[in-house]
Amino acid sequence: MNQIKSNENSTALSADSVLVREYLDRAVRPNVLDEETEKTYKANIKQLLLEKNARLVAHYYTDAVLQDLAEESGGFVGDSLEMARFGQDCDAEVLVVAGVKFMGESAKILSPEKTVLMPTLEATCSLDIACPADKFAAFCDQHPDRTVVVYANTSAAVKARADWVVTSSIALDVVEHLMEQGKKVLWAPDKHLGSYIQKTTGADMLLWDAACIVHEEFKARGLADMRKLYPDAAILAHPESPSAVLEIADVVGSTTQIINAAKQSTKSEIIVATDQGIFHRLQQVAPEKTFIIAPTAGNDATCRSCAQCPWMGMNSLQSLYASLQETSNEIHVEPELAAQAMIPLQRMLDFAANNQLKVRGKA
Ligand code: SF4
Repeated sequence: MNQIKSNENSTALSADSVLVREYLDRAVRPNVLDEETEKTYKANIKQLLLEKNARLVAHYYTDAVLQDLAEESGGFVGDSLEMARFGQDCDAEVLVVAGVKFMGESAKILSPEKTVLMPTLEATCSLDIACPADKFAAFCDQHPDRTVVVYANTSAAVKARADWVVTSSIALDVVEHLMEQGKKVLWAPDKHLGSYIQKTTGADMLLWDAACIVHEEFKARGLADMRKLYPDAAILAHPESPSAVLEIADVVGSTTQIINAAKQSTKSEIIVATDQGIFHRLQQVAPEKTFIIAPTAGNDATCRSCAQCPWMGMNSLQSLYASLQETSNEIHVEPELAAQAMIPLQRMLDFAANNQLKVRGKA
């Protein structure tokens, strides 16, 4: 199943693609609702949020209707770093996290006194699946001289084993900070993001081998062809994309950094390599610009996601309503584990609070 491979300065475990496929086969996109039913769901959910002193926290990759509902009801829409900050700072008794499971777990770890619900507990992430805690712990044990930095897209148990947790908006800055202190890094789980950080900073990094099934499908060749079609367009890419795609991009950044770059760009056409859910916010912040999704392998090839995360897509008005009404799909993290995972998570939040984070590239 998993195997260890080595290269010049990295050792890696390959992702368990069979397990990822099994999860994907269970991922079902919710039915589209008619206008009247959608309105009724939204009104009922707003009422329940008020009654339960709850806030809806949604990721940019979730359906536009959930993003709008979060904002209209006093909740929040953001990337995983911002979601974590909002959840910790807000005074609600209940957080409803529309996203994937690791986001709900992070919210619970940072706010153990709050009830954290999710529209579905089935929504996971290929990076989380491909980094099982026991194998990861064994990998860390083999390299005790390295500072362990894990991406937020991991389980509570993997976070508990780390020195630092980072999101894509802060990863480069944290690794640069560690490099300045002469530290060597063990990085998990996203190999593309890890390799991007390694190339950008020159840090000594050992990489785990896993990938996001959505971003891995963006193709450099197709993107180069697209650039010929839109020679004046800016290309913005998420660092979970393969390195050949990132090399073509004008800006590489997290979802929030992509949104800011799109807003500030002088270009009227913008090609975007990340989940299509972000287009809702992009069109809100820059309605005069044209956004074009970067090419993936396409439906006829190996693409199982095609710029749409199947797990993010499992969040729906129906599942959100059910979870709020029944107080179901609650996230529990064993207190001892949560206390351990809180240390690297809080380290990231403190670092973010004390540092002006940079955006790389220009568009
Ligand atoms: S888009 Fe990729 S990284 Fe984000 S939750 Fe989906 S599989 Fe995970």
